[in-house]
Amino acid sequence: MSQSASVPSSILDSFKDPALCRAVLEQLKAELDSPLRFMEVCGTHTVAIFRSGIHSLLPGEVVHISGPGCPVCVTHDAEVALFLELAAKPGVVVATFGDLMRVPGPQGGSLKSAQAEGGRVQIVYSPMDALKLAKDHPGDTVVFLGVGFETTAPTVAATVKMARAAGVANFKVLSFHKLVPPALRALLADPDTALDALILPGHVSAIIGMDAYRFIAEEFKTPAAITGFEPLDILQSLLEVAKQKREGRAEIANLYTRVVPPQGNPKARAILDEVFRPADALWRGIGTIPGSGLAFTDAYADYDAMACLGLALKDVKPLPGCRCGEVLKGKMKPNDCPLFAKACTPASPVGPCMVSSEGSCAAYFKFQLEL
Ligand code: SF4
Repeated sequence: MSQSASVPSSILDSFKDPALCRAVLEQLKAELDSPLRFMEVCGTHTVAIFRSGIHSLLPGEVVHISGPGCPVCVTHDAEVALFLELAAKPGVVVATFGDLMRVPGPQGGSLKSAQAEGGRVQIVYSPMDALKLAKDHPGDTVVFLGVGFETTAPTVAATVKMARAAGVANFKVLSFHKLVPPALRALLADPDTALDALILPGHVSAIIGMDAYRFIAEEFKTPAAITGFEPLDILQSLLEVAKQKREGRAEIANLYTRVVPPQGNPKARAILDEVFRPADALWRGIGTIPGSGLAFTDAYADYDAMACLGLALKDVKPLPGCRCGEVLKGKMKPNDCPLFAKACTPASPVGPCMVSSEGSCAAYFKFQLEL
C-alpha cells in the first residue's frame, strides 16, 4: 500500500514537523530512568534514523543498534558464491536487483566483475522484468536472484504464478529470501545481544501483521513498536518502548496504523504460502536460523533454480577482515571495524554492509563522516 496514496500530504508533513519532533524528544528524555538499548531491524529505518539526525540527537542513555534489516547485508557469503557460480554457467542469464552487483564474493569478484568478464548478468527493476527477459530469450535459462524479506517475496511469488500461467518454463528463481521473525527470535535468544527494545519494520509488518511478533513480548518480555519512517514516527516509537520499559510492560505497539493493519496483508501471505514454504536459511554473521527462509512448495518446484540447475551451497571462508557479521548482530558498531573508512568505503567496499545504501556501515559513512 502506498502511504502517500492514502494519507493527505499535509498530515504526512506533520510527521516531519521540527517542533513536534522536539516535543517528543523531550518527552523521551523525561521517560528514561535507565539506559535504553534498542535495535531497529529495517534498512530503511537505519537510513531514516541517520538522515533525520535522530541518531545524533538521542540522549546518551539511548543506544541505537542497527540489526539485520538490510537484505543485501544478510545474504550469506555462500549464497553470494552461488550467484557468481551461476554467472559463469553457459546458457544462464542472471537477473538481479542492482544492489547485489557490487557485493564481494568470498573468493574475490562480484556480479559486476563477472559481467565485465563476459558473464550474462542483467540488472532488473522487478521480478516481472526478469520474467520478460525469460520470454525474450527462450533458448536461455533466466535465473532471478531472490533476496529480500517478507516485503519482496510476495511479488516474486506472484511472478512465479504468472510464469506458470504464461507457460514460461525457462524462468527460475534462486530463493534466498529471509523471514524477519525467526531472526528476531535468534537475536533475542542470544544473551550477548542484550536488547531492551525493538523497533519493528513498517513494510514487513504491512505484510505479516502484528501476531507474528507476539513472542517478542510474551516469551522475551521485550517492548517493541511497529513504526513508519518519518522522524516523528521513529521518535514516537522510542517514546513508546521507553514507556513500556519504565512501566515494566512488554507489548507489541502498532504506531504505523496508517499503513499496517493488525492482520497484515492476507492476500499477499496467501500467494506466498502457495509458492513458498518456510525452510532453514543461512544469515551472514548469524548462521543457520531454523524456518527463516523460503523454499519452493512442491507445486512450484519447476521454478526452483536450486533443484532445476543442480545447485548446492558450499562451505566458504568469510570475507577476510570484514566484521559485517558482528555489525549485523549489534555486537560491533560500524566505525569500530578496523577497516571502516580506511580500506572499506562506499567507493571501495570490503563487505556488503558498505555496499548497500541500506547497510549500516554505508549509513555511518554517509551520515557520520560526510556531514
Ligand atoms: S566497515 Fe567494511 S569491512 Fe568493516 S564491517 Fe563494515 S563492510 Fe565489513
